[in-house]
Amino acid sequence: MCGVFGIYGHDEAANIAYLGMHALQHRGQESAGLVSLEPDGGKLRRHVAMGLVSDVFDREVLAKLPGRMAIGHVRYSTAGSSELRNAQPFLFEYAGGQISIAHNGNLVNAEELRIELETQGSIFQTSSDTEVIVHLMAKAKEPDVLGKLMSALRRVRGAYSLILLTGDGKMIAARDPNGFRPLVMGRLKDGYVLSSETCSFDLVEAEFIREIEPGEIVVLGNTTSPVTSHRIPGDTNPRFCVFEHVYFARPDSLVNGKSVYRARERMGRRLAEESPVPGDVVVPVPDSGVPAAIGYSKESGVPFEMGLIRSHYVGRTFIEPQESIRHFGVRLKLSPVRSVVDGKRVIVVDDSLVRGTTSRKIVKMLRGAGAREVHLRISAPPTTHPCFYGIDTPNRAELVAASHTVDEIARYVTCDSLKYLSHEGMMHAVGTMEDTAGDGAGYCSACFTGRYPVALGSPDLVQLRARNRMA
Ligand code: AMP
Repeated sequence: MCGVFGIYGHDEAANIAYLGMHALQHRGQESAGLVSLEPDGGKLRRHVAMGLVSDVFDREVLAKLPGRMAIGHVRYSTAGSSELRNAQPFLFEYAGGQISIAHNGNLVNAEELRIELETQGSIFQTSSDTEVIVHLMAKAKEPDVLGKLMSALRRVRGAYSLILLTGDGKMIAARDPNGFRPLVMGRLKDGYVLSSETCSFDLVEAEFIREIEPGEIVVLGNTTSPVTSHRIPGDTNPRFCVFEHVYFARPDSLVNGKSVYRARERMGRRLAEESPVPGDVVVPVPDSGVPAAIGYSKESGVPFEMGLIRSHYVGRTFIEPQESIRHFGVRLKLSPVRSVVDGKRVIVVDDSLVRGTTSRKIVKMLRGAGAREVHLRISAPPTTHPCFYGIDTPNRAELVAASHTVDEIARYVTCDSLKYLSHEGMMHAVGTMEDTAGDGAGYCSACFTGRYPVALGSPDLVQLRARNRMA
């Protein structure tokens, strides 16, 4: 869970990247970083720190990052621990010169490659899977950076949306052959922007051009042509992460060519069709449950009300790696509006149910504020499997739907009824029904089905990975 941003060919590159990263803050709050290329044959300069974009950067810091090109990164650790040495973008010197890299996604064969590279003498500076790519590039025999990157990407498996910046002024975007995580390109005046999500283009007033395609590498700054497109050798098999639509991306973004807001609204509508219930108010769990609740309300005719208020001064608590803080967090973050729910049959809509602890607290809170009945509607199917491609989900033991039936979960969260959206309904909502008869082709929905499109390796490695991700 990370966000990447790049700006190529703008006099205020660092400032633009700073703004772009602000718009991607929801994708990671642990660390933020920026690398820019000094003008006139200068060097790459880097500033990274733990914390939010607004904490990490100020006018003074940004002034020390001059130049017309910059790449930025916001991070939540899904591979490697939460510490400064893992904060990106990374900056390395190798025989090809300086290179900087920002990565969103998770490589599934990073441990194997790391062991192989270390055996051959590589010394790693971080515990992040991203560094494997740089070591593979450093060892590649190809003469130019594009060839080195292709050689490295031939070896790695899993999810990556990458932005690289080289000391000689090339910016490169690359997306894995499954295109798990988003990556888009736009124009800003005479320059180009790259980003995880289009919402950052809106903020800096850039124009969206297109997605970087699964299996594509785009190079900005070749002498022959300003933009060149190349293919990563091998098959492409688009498997965009459906959970970006369900929860992760911002509703004002277009991801995989579709409006996140509209997809969530359709999920809510479909949920109302599949699982109606008599109620007096539809209440969203803010913020991510809001568009689905609007859809549910429109379809069912039950009025939409903000029966839960979210404090905007607390981050996404789930995202805090420590269990103790997360537990405490729900009450800190949400509070019920008695005048909306008192004496009412409340239909609560949330986008997903992972451990079940949030829902349990919400139900308790609503009853405490006078709700007569609480019916929980989840605008996605049960989360039964962890993600190995870059979304932070806990390991299987903590996923309540991995080991409990819907009735058991309803009893645990103490609601009057619990229903989830069907897998088919979700796929319909993200628009694949027209393309693929609703079988989910074109999307990865492994967290709901356990069908992982990229092999994970031996059970031991899967375990090791799950442990690393929890570290
Ligand atoms: P839980 O208490 O574990 O069931 O958390 C469910 C809540 O966390 C829902 O309100 C979701 O919106 C939110 N959520 C789901 N997945 C994630 C994630 N990967 N990171 C942060 N929050 C999440």
